[in-house]
Amino acid sequence: MARVIVEAAEQLLDQEIKVLDKGFVRLVDYMGSDERIVQAARVSYGSGTKSFRQDKGLINYLMRNQHTSPFEQVNLTFHTKMPIFVARQWVRHRTARLNEISGRYSIMKDEFYVPDLGQMRGQSEDNKQARSDEVIANATEMIAEMEADQRLIYDHYTGMVDQGLAREIARSNLPLSLYTEWYWQIDLHNLFRFLHLRMDGHAQYEIRVYAEAMAKCAKAVSPLAYDAFEEHMLNSVRFSRQECVAMSAIMAGGANPLEGRALAIFEQKLAAMQAIRLPEDDDANLAVGEVSPV
Ligand SMILES: Cc1cc2nc3c(=O)[nH]c(=O)nc-3n(C[C@H](O)[C@H](O)[C@H](O)COP(=O)(O)OP(=O)(O)OC[C@H]3O[C@@H](n4cnc5c(N)ncnc54)[C@H](O)[C@@H]3O)c2cc1C
Repeated sequence: MARVIVEAAEQLLDQEIKVLDKGFVRLVDYMGSDERIVQAARVSYGSGTKSFRQDKGLINYLMRNQHTSPFEQVNLTFHTKMPIFVARQWVRHRTARLNEISGRYSIMKDEFYVPDLGQMRGQSEDNKQARSDEVIANATEMIAEMEADQRLIYDHYTGMVDQGLAREIARSNLPLSLYTEWYWQIDLHNLFRFLHLRMDGHAQYEIRVYAEAMAKCAKAVSPLAYDAFEEHMLNSVRFSRQECVAMSAIMAGGANPLEGRALAIFEQKLAAMQAIRLPEDDDANLAVGEVSPV
């Protein structure tokens, strides 16, 4: 099968999608698309591409049944620029291949993340890993302090390099807000795992916005697979055994046996479930229909 060209993805190639104050996501290249997924899924049956409707049904079937390997046939390469603290979270996703700018080889640029005023919120009281909804008092002064510290540290960094200190040791004093860049290549199955975790409301805002930019690229490259990802992963809610038992009790007209923290988490999941809406162009038959791989 010849190289798959997708017009929407071609339009995105080499375009910087701006993220945060100085970062970006750029789709460098892609290999494969929905067509490649269905070809790979059908290879054992010797049956090629069928109608759009059947392809959509098959991709939906694969996603629903976690038959994930055909999605690994699609690859995306990104060039991204992000603060080091975002890169630290990002790099935990081990199934990608990456190549990062070298602070031993190059002088690091004078580019630091400065949060928007709206992100300068207080510590969340119920989640130790999160921020609250309220912008903190003195946020403007704090931003000015951050910028002053960044200027000072960068001046010291360049000063030490100018005096002959090795770049590899001078850079060790630079802060987490410094921007770094890398090339990052991942297959679509593992990109969906990344997006599922990092587009979630529990992920830190500063990585979520990168995930959202990459989601645009994934959607352009493989729109049917992206729809299936939204259907079965992104907009789905997972209930524990205890929660399923509680739900069964409620549906049978009984009382909810959950209490305390377990009840609070259950109620959050119910609220998330109730907030889910179908897209306007949803084809309900395809969303629920069972389509065999041949
Ligand atoms: C909201 C949030 C908060 C977090 N907080 C913290 C934190 O406080 N501290 C912290 O350390 N981390 C934290 N993490 C990171 C988290 O624990 C995971 O490391 C990260 O999300 C990557 O997930 P993953 O392992 O599924 O991804 P990947 O590394 O992409 O792995 C994908 C799948 O491949 C498997 N896999 C990958 N490599 C191998 C291998 N070599 N051998 C066998 N199987 C492999 C994995 O088991 C997994 O099933 C947080 C993540 C999120 C989303």
